[in-house]
Amino acid sequence: MNKSICVIAALITFPAASFGQAPATGRGQTRRPAPDHPTISIQGESFTPRSILARNMGTPEEQAEQFPPHKIIGNVYYVGTKTLSSFLIVTPAGNILMDTTYERNVRTIQKSVEQLGFKFSDTKIILGNHAHGDHMEGDALAKELTGAQVIVMAEDVPALTAIKPGGKEHPIDKIIHDGDTVTLGGTTLTAYLTAGHTHGATTWIMKTKEGNDSYDVVFHSSLRSGAVLTPPVVAEFNHSFSFVRSLACDVPLGDHPGEYDMHEKFAKLHPGGPNPFIDRAGCNKETDVEDAMFHAILQEQEQAALAAAKP
Ligand SMILES: [Zn+2]
Repeated sequence: MNKSICVIAALITFPAASFGQAPATGRGQTRRPAPDHPTISIQGESFTPRSILARNMGTPEEQAEQFPPHKIIGNVYYVGTKTLSSFLIVTPAGNILMDTTYERNVRTIQKSVEQLGFKFSDTKIILGNHAHGDHMEGDALAKELTGAQVIVMAEDVPALTAIKPGGKEHPIDKIIHDGDTVTLGGTTLTAYLTAGHTHGATTWIMKTKEGNDSYDVVFHSSLRSGAVLTPPVVAEFNHSFSFVRSLACDVPLGDHPGEYDMHEKFAKLHPGGPNPFIDRAGCNKETDVEDAMFHAILQEQEQAALAAAKP
């Protein structure tokens, strides 16, 4: 595809600021609605960019409201809010916190960690899913409260340094690259660059044990298309969709609960019953939705470019 045509089409079809990513801070910004087209359908369910964003973010109240903290599987716990995921990985050498969400949620995450019987001060490492405020704005405060090391993906560093709640610099203690690992107390997480939503969007994987069985846990990154699909971003997404599908997966998780049906699965949690978070059939569900939406948006852009190119 011709690069200039693609960019022109993007500008014609979607004003760059009209949608695409969650607001950087969620405060003091006017959030314009995402477009209500194109529509795609997966397993009988219809989605638009607007409906996906609404499902992911919920209301401002839901973004801040504590969701009951719970064990997902093995040493992996949920400590986030109703619509913003935060995960705690517990090891004998201290804990790993993945996604601090908005800064205003950090105390709620701390409360969830403590309600599960762990100490927030035992957090040794802070990881992130991708450099948007709704996932990593709280890193500075969480580090301040715990002294944890903040480890970030190289390609997200420029975007992260722009996230400064209350003027605080975003802490970066270690920069990693695609395929690097983070190990603490016998648990190893591997970071895979699955760019597109941001340039450094990261899918984390780890193994955890439950009884005698070992499970592959996949902390999916958002694969939601932004407002402008430039050729480099198209290339990023094309790699990410196929790569994510290649991962071994027993337990799919996501940076928003809506991406892995957390609320529905949590409702099915019963002592002694099967673990609803083991969902091999659901491992690629969100990838399928985002892949279809990506191609539908791309098609709209190309059609708009062709229409604009006509004399
Ligand atoms: Zn995002």
